[in-house]
Amino acid sequence: MTIRKDFLHEAKWIVESIREQDKALQQEEERLREQLNEIEGKRSNFAQVDARFNSYPLVKTEDPCPRCWLFDGVASKSRPAGHDENDNDVFRCSHCDYEITVKV
Ligand SMILES: [Zn+2]
Repeated sequence: MTIRKDFLHEAKWIVESIREQDKALQQEEERLREQLNEIEGKRSNFAQVDARFNSYPLVKTEDPCPRCWLFDGVASKSRPAGHDENDNDVFRCSHCDYEITVKV
């Protein structure tokens, strides 16, 4: 039994197509692996949120930014930033610009 030249040519073309698809899948796999590592890093950090929340009242910084503390464990100072339309005090984090309104 012989394989016709055209069939062999077609088979080679399919092999090239499969290799290109495999290369694209490999790149996609690497991208997803990096994304997964990033997600695992964030989740690992988030796993500390309860401990950070429990220690929040103990942060020695005056008016510490809750966002910086809960997300990153960083004690950043919130500074007075004026008043809102109801004349409540507004504080803004010096690190992440998170704003907190304190009712008067
Ligand atoms: Zn902050």
